Amino acid sequence: MGGWTVLCERCGAEDPLDSAGWRCPHCGAAWILRGPDLFDIQRLLPAEHTLWRYEQILPTARSEAVSLGEGMTPLVPGELSGHPVWFKLDFLLPTGSFKDRGAAVLVSHLRCQGYRRLVVDSSGNAAAALAAYCAAARLECHVFAPAATSPAKLAQARAYGAEVTLVEGSRERVAATAQRAATADPAAAYASHNWHPVFVEGTKTWLLEVWEQLGGRFPSACFLPVGGGSLLIGAWRACQALPGPYPKLVAAQPLACAPLVQAFERGEPDVSPVAPATTLAEGARIAAPPRGRQMLAAIRRSDGWVEAIDEDSLVDTLRQLWRQGLYVEPTAALGAAAFRQAVARGRPMPAGEAVIVLTGSGLKTGSLALE
Ligand SMILES: [Zn+2]
Repeated sequence: MGGWTVLCERCGAEDPLDSAGWRCPHCGAAWILRGPDLFDIQRLLPAEHTLWRYEQILPTARSEAVSLGEGMTPLVPGELSGHPVWFKLDFLLPTGSFKDRGAAVLVSHLRCQGYRRLVVDSSGNAAAALAAYCAAARLECHVFAPAATSPAKLAQARAYGAEVTLVEGSRERVAATAQRAATADPAAAYASHNWHPVFVEGTKTWLLEVWEQLGGRFPSACFLPVGGGSLLIGAWRACQALPGPYPKLVAAQPLACAPLVQAFERGEPDVSPVAPATTLAEGARIAAPPRGRQMLAAIRRSDGWVEAIDEDSLVDTLRQLWRQGLYVEPTAALGAAAFRQAVARGRPMPAGEAVIVLTGSGLKTGSLALE
């Protein structure tokens, strides 16, 4: 698709999307996309009940899309700690997590570029999502995962036909191994949900849908789980597509691994790596997120804030969600926990709707027994 470029916000480098690698070759930072960003509501495709209804601001044409019907998840009213909220049910996407949005658009893009094999590093929802869309696209998928990953978490990716290789050592070492494997094979692309800018462009569609579902306006605040940051950065990309006022973006991380929270509270321009402790919110356990700078910018530009969630609060929130019929995995409860924590601290909430994004299905965690 013409008109799309990648921009490095650290060193200012800019390249056409079609010839760009997965990160800035000059300084190694993560790219962000620039393209036809403004959304013209007159050109919405109302009969297209998937995220491809926003084709005009996606980097891949709908005619080239690999689709499993992703998008237009329900927005339903509920309550948290006695306050009315709206839940965005992104755990109802085809593989059970919001990652399908990014995977659908990224796999479509890389298939158009002629790649036959996609290399991924993930231990969870991203591996499942990318493996599923590779299966739908008839592409090979090779997943590199930490050796400590439980077999149950990789069963879904294997079921879609992905080859899975376990790697000893840190999460960063797993990523480096995947990057080498992709570089060594000219038919392969590194399809990283944490690095590739096209993944974020798919993810931004969740907030475009909310805008439509609220009758053509944004909510006043959005509460999101944040690990690698595609949900958060995608939300800010959606804000760039439509007129304001914009929602405050509130990023929730587990206290056990909260590099973004620390950097935000210290007023720093980028995120420094942390030594992560264990947490039930495994999907947000990213100690050194590549898009730290972009995440901080999204929160600050939206006038949002951050919340670090301890394990007791996470479990208590998970129970509150389950008892409303919302069976989500622990990582997906972070946004709801952040809302409750902000209310409990007496933080003034902006007037208008608060939207809580529920990102992953509880069916993924098997029999999670809470104490
Ligand atoms: Zn750069």
